[in-house]
Amino acid sequence: MAFFDFHTHNKNSENAIINIFPNENIISGKLMSCGMHPWHYKENYADEIIFIEDLAKSKKIIAIGEVGFDPVSQVNLETQNKIFIEHFKISETYNLPLIIHCVKYFHVLKELKKNLNPKQAWIIHSFNSKPEILQDLQRQGFYFSFSNSIFKNSEKAKTIFNTILPERFFLESDDSQLDIKEIYHLASEYFNLEMEELKSQISKNLKHIGI
Ligand SMILES: [Zn+2]
Repeated sequence: MAFFDFHTHNKNSENAIINIFPNENIISGKLMSCGMHPWHYKENYADEIIFIEDLAKSKKIIAIGEVGFDPVSQVNLETQNKIFIEHFKISETYNLPLIIHCVKYFHVLKELKKNLNPKQAWIIHSFNSKPEILQDLQRQGFYFSFSNSIFKNSEKAKTIFNTILPERFFLESDDSQLDIKEIYHLASEYFNLEMEELKSQISKNLKHIGI
């Protein structure tokens, strides 16, 4: 069974969801997601939304995002919110899961999920915040994907892997050069799960969110 990489910016990856930004090219035969990254948000985003919706409609992508919230975004929270809602609508219309980038604004995200009550899975990618936040969001039905960053603080990684439910997480390389296998090895240690079990759990989780 493959080491599935839930989110990567490396266009050469196999067994991975390769993320592209609007106006980048789809690579045929690969699993792709497309969304506006909060670092690239701007006031006028209509063309980007049309681009993403076209990809969703023509089934060229299997997930929407990454999209979300970040204090370093150039647009204010209100505009970040509007952009997020546009992605949410595409995700629900075309039955595609939503991959989320979130720094700090977890309370905003939580309220949105409560109010919008999505049918599609919402996955917070490269989650590296407090275990209490994870626990709270997990109760609300969120999924999580972990990258190398979570293992930089081993105490925190221990608590996170004691808190996360097996059916709620994925592993990813994101923009790191690290081999996804390394991330699986670390997760299997911290989660205290045999590698094959870990892979099969993640493959079940993928099916569960429709991938
Ligand atoms: Zn990313």
